[in-house]
Formats: sequence, C-alpha cells, structure tokens
Amino acid sequence: MNDHYQTIIIGGGLSGLTVAHKLRLQKPHHRFVVIEKSGRTGGVIATHRNQGYTAEIGPHGFLDNCPESRQILAETGLDRESLQAPLIDFVRYVYLHGRLNLIPQTPKKILMAPLIPWQAKLRVLAELWQPVLGGEPTVAKWVAHRFGKALLPYVDAVYTGTYAGDYDRLTIDSVMPGLRALEKEHGSVLRGALQRLRAKRQEKSVKTPFRMPAMTSFPEGMARLPARLAENLAPGRDLLLDTAVTAVHSAGSGWQVETDKGMLQASQVVVALPINAALRLLAALDPAMPEKSVPEAQLATVVLGFADTVKLPPGFGFLTPECEQRFALGALFSSNMFPGRAPAGHIVFETLVGGRRHPERVELDDRTLTRKAFEDVRQILGIAMEPAYSTVLRPWGGIPQLERNYPGLLAWRRRFLAAHPHLHICGFGWEGIGMNDMMKQATRVAEELLAPGRREEVAEIKGVYF
Ligand SMILES: Cc1cc2nc3c(=O)[nH]c(=O)nc-3n(C[C@H](O)[C@H](O)[C@H](O)COP(=O)(O)OP(=O)(O)OC[C@H]3O[C@@H](n4cnc5c(N)ncnc54)[C@H](O)[C@@H]3O)c2cc1C
Repeated sequence: MNDHYQTIIIGGGLSGLTVAHKLRLQKPHHRFVVIEKSGRTGGVIATHRNQGYTAEIGPHGFLDNCPESRQILAETGLDRESLQAPLIDFVRYVYLHGRLNLIPQTPKKILMAPLIPWQAKLRVLAELWQPVLGGEPTVAKWVAHRFGKALLPYVDAVYTGTYAGDYDRLTIDSVMPGLRALEKEHGSVLRGALQRLRAKRQEKSVKTPFRMPAMTSFPEGMARLPARLAENLAPGRDLLLDTAVTAVHSAGSGWQVETDKGMLQASQVVVALPINAALRLLAALDPAMPEKSVPEAQLATVVLGFADTVKLPPGFGFLTPECEQRFALGALFSSNMFPGRAPAGHIVFETLVGGRRHPERVELDDRTLTRKAFEDVRQILGIAMEPAYSTVLRPWGGIPQLERNYPGLLAWRRRFLAAHPHLHICGFGWEGIGMNDMMKQATRVAEELLAPGRREEVAEIKGVYF
C-alpha cells in the first residue's frame, strides 16, 4: 500500500463519512479515502435490534434545527424515511423532590409553571444587573451567579441529559460559548438575547413564527444514517476498514499517513476523530500542544421491555439531577418517541447509567447493572411486574467533557491549523459533542477542501432543549 490521494480522511464515524459524502457529491473525481480503525463505519452511532426490540447503543437522535444536517438528509434521501418526534408534543420530566416534575416545552409555559418559587423567578430577572464573572467558571457557578441557585437542579438535568456530565466541572465558556459572548458583550444574557431578538425582528419584514424542533431518527434506528452515508464508498478503494492510522508526517506540501498496513500519501488530510484520538495523533507534530487529553464520560444503557399493561407517562422520558442520589441518570421512553421500538403488545424504555460522576457503575457486570437500574426506575415509574426483555448496551466510546482549559485547546487548534493549511480537524468533542455539531463542522471542512481557505468558526447561541 503506497498510494497517493488528493484527500485522506482519518475516521469513519459520522464526521469522516459526512466529509466523504460531500466530496463525492460535489467533486465526483476527487480522489479520497476514508481510513477506519475498526471493522465497521459509524463510530459511536450503533443500533441494537433483537427480538423485535430496537434500542440505541449511542445517540438516540438529533434535532432538526440545523441547516447542515437537514441538507445531508435531503441529499441522501433520508428525509423521506426519517421519523420525527416534535418536542412540542413530547414533554420531559425532571425527577426532583421525590417525584417526576413535568417540564413544559415552551419558554412562556416554563415561566408560568410552578417549578421554582416566585421569589426565585424574580431572581432570574435580576440577571440583568449581575456583574460579569471573570475566569473560566463552571456551569454551576455561573448559573448560580447569574440566575440564582433555584435553577441548579434543572441545569444539572440538562447537562446530565446532553453530556452525561458534571456541571461542577463543565465550564460555561466551553459548553455555551455563544451565551458567554452575549453576557460579555451586553453585560447580561437576558439583555443581549432581547436585543438580538429585536434586531432579528427588524431584519425580517415577514414574521416567522417560533417553531420547536423535532427529534429525528429512522425506523431501523440511528445506525441507518452512517450506513446510508457509507453506502457509496467502495471498500478497498474509498474506504479502508480495519486500518489504524498510527502517525501523520508533513511531507513537502502534502502529508504522509502511516497506518498499521503501510504508508499512504495525500495532498490534504482530514483528522475526523474524537478529540482524544486526534490529540494522540497530532501530539508528535506540535510539542506546544497545551493539553494531551480531555476527560470522557462513560455510559451504559439498560434496555427494559415490558408487556404493554405497563403504562409509561406521556413524553420523552426523565432525567435525575445528582442531588436526588439515584442510581440511574434517567430514562428515555423509546416506545413513546418512535413507533416500532418494541414487539406488538410490548413497550420499551432505555435507562442511562454512569456518566462523568459515576464511572464505577459502568464497570458493574450486566446482571448487577440491570438489577440496580431496574430497582431504581421501577420505583419512580411505579412498575409492579418483571421485565419481559432486558439487555445492557455499552457504547463504542465515551463522551468528551468540555471542562477547564478547553477554550485554550480550541485556541491551540486555530494556531495549529493556521500553521498547517493542508490539514483539517473535525470530530467528536471539537466545537461541541452533538451530531448536529459534527455534521456542521464536517460540512465546513468539506467546503475548505473544495475551495481552499479557512472558514471561520462562529460561536452560535444554542437553544437549551432536553
Ligand atoms: C453514548 C452516546 C450517546 C450520544 N447521544 C447523542 C444524542 O442523543 N444526540 C446527539 O446529537 N449526539 C449524541 N452523541 C454524540 C454523537 O454520537 C457524536 O457527536 C458523533 O457520533 C461523533 O461522530 P464522529 O465521527 O465525530 O466520532 P466517532 O463516532 O467517535 O467516530 C470516529 C471514528 O474514528 C475511528 N478511529 C479512531 N482512531 C482511529 C485511528 N487512529 N485510525 C483510524 N480510525 C480511527 C473510530 O474507530 C471511529 O469509528 C452521543 C454519543 C455517545 C457516545
């Protein structure tokens, strides 16, 4: 193996496959190859299907509010088969004070709901006059400072549901850079948000009504997305499976990519790996790299199926903040969200265990994990019968945690990329962790490959949906 490519894409997960898809679509003669260490594509996206049950080993879906991912669905025809679970129709719950508290799905209804006392609601408004916090505050410290402590359990639930993270470690500059920029620019998040809203309304002559996004999946589960993206890659030509990249060397104006099967050459290289794998690979190219790794949160999912005499509350599921001291982080009511997730006459839900705070729970054997998870949720959901089906799913990778010094790592990446114009970096944990973040970044990288010149990353203000 000693071939020359225009582009080598390292990593066959959603990020690498998205770059490959865009290249194929926009420049059919562009000579590229995707190099994937394992024997399959998709990375952490994988679906479990057994005895009529469908459950997710990795992500459960993504919101349809990202233009780049909508575009990919349209380009692949997946928009015609995708399933939508609109947030407006599916409430969520936070388990707090020993009961499930329904979280309404619009900001106005949340404001009116008795989730926090009225004094605490006034404290939220006092955010307008809070001074800007310096340094790199944690999410918990920042929220308590700006909006008051009453919101903390709900914010904990948000970051448990998205990062499986610990809001006493995640930093606001890392996970919400857009919000932080708003605070710094306007002295208050609320004031900044209102001014932006007003400016947007003035920009648009026709008022577009606010629409809640929908969670997207597929009848066969999430694995359908990477499978479709990989469909047109010819194994051995455009896709090398079971091939690990071990080093990348600069060679004149191009790159040499060393793998466990031999050396390849390319004019451009895309490192589409989870952040820790990327840092390991790139460390040799720059001794000034400020961090060699970021922490990860490990998860396990306990899938529990029952006869449909068990009635789940309506909605997506629930999350549990740490202060409640439960075993599980929460549960997703899969049968409520998408049809066909359980055999006829049955329901299924997926219980999440572990996360940044409790890695030791993921180490438990399947039997113990299932027993403890079931004991925990049966009491919350009032389930009297034993499960008809259970299995433990262990994801293919952990979730990168954007904690202290992460903004410094992003700044390093900008400097590194400026010094290496023919190298590109995207993937799990760079500029976010969600599938939409990945498809957006990978689309930008593909644009850079096709029309050279770096595109600026913009810190957007993301909605908080959980
Ligand atoms: C448990 C879990 C739940 C999640 N839930 C959601 C969710 O509900 N919604 C959402 O939007 N997002 C969710 N995510 C995040 C989402 O799955 C990721 O953003 C996305 O799948 C990452 O894709 P990627 O290609 O960047 O990385 P990966 O999927 O990690 O793919 C990287 C690929 O690179 C390969 N690789 C690694 N090292 C090398 C090497 N040296 N040489 C060659 N190949 C290599 C790996 O084998 C892997 O296939 C979840 C993630 C996890 C782990």
